[in-house]
Amino acid sequence: MATPTRPPTQVANPTASLPTQVTPAPTSGLLSSPSETAPASSTPVPPASSGPMVTVPILYQHRVVPLPQGIGTWTYTARQTFLATDTLPWSFAAQLDWLEAHGYTTILPRDLVEHWDRGVPLPARCVILTFDDGYPEWVSTVLPLLELHHMTAEFYVTLDAIADGRLSWADVRTLAAAGMGIGAHDVHHVQLAMLGSNRPPASTAVMTYEVTEARRIIGNELGRPPDSMAYVGGGFDAALVGIVRRAGYSTARAIIRGVVQSPADRWTLHVSRIGVWDDVVDPTACVNDPSEATCAIRLPLTTFPQRVSGAAPG
Ligand SMILES: [Zn+2]
Repeated sequence: MATPTRPPTQVANPTASLPTQVTPAPTSGLLSSPSETAPASSTPVPPASSGPMVTVPILYQHRVVPLPQGIGTWTYTARQTFLATDTLPWSFAAQLDWLEAHGYTTILPRDLVEHWDRGVPLPARCVILTFDDGYPEWVSTVLPLLELHHMTAEFYVTLDAIADGRLSWADVRTLAAAGMGIGAHDVHHVQLAMLGSNRPPASTAVMTYEVTEARRIIGNELGRPPDSMAYVGGGFDAALVGIVRRAGYSTARAIIRGVVQSPADRWTLHVSRIGVWDDVVDPTACVNDPSEATCAIRLPLTTFPQRVSGAAPG
């Protein structure tokens, strides 16, 4: 297994070298979620080549797991984190059914670049499925369901997920061999920018290390460097975008909500977030007899179709 080289600083330990204002973002989907900070709309983005804006929902997910036993005893925060960051297997299967039934074709981030830069046509209705961090269920649950539907997804791997044994390089190679996209998501899952008021971004050295080292190691392991990355916690600024661009990534996914993708935003692609409560059921539907004068039960769900359309991107 390739191991990270040291960041270009005088400090020996890359984790210890992180400045105090940098938050190593958790990768566990159970007890904590990536901290999401509202993106600053004024953040400048380096210019990109021209091309058409396109409506391509990029769905943003983490794990696909059954409801854990004992979730009722969890703290409110832990339960909310699970609901916001994880997806139930049967919901995910229903989402793929819905996409197929509504004529959606899955593409990968690199296909947006091919469209913008070389005019390669996109399917009439396309969607990009993305998964962050790294979990064994990517191979055991997500991949079989994707293959059943002849669909693909981009898996943004943080190298710490491999270091701590949640995922193996064999797993990542299995995904890649099945035609899935493998993207980068930091070495140490560190939110590098947009840390909130009075919390400056990571140093250039730390940004460069997390971005370039993840690409180098994944490239060594797979024989092909990743063309896309996802910002941990969705945080970015102009300096980080510049580093990502110069590192050779052709796209990067932020967590700004929306389904319209512009070539000028190719390093800050927009998303719709999918959580446990995102079902394909219409939330306005009555579950009792709709002919009754009043509807006793309305399903408290935000629908998956609303996520895909951008009406409620999460
Ligand atoms: Zn993450």
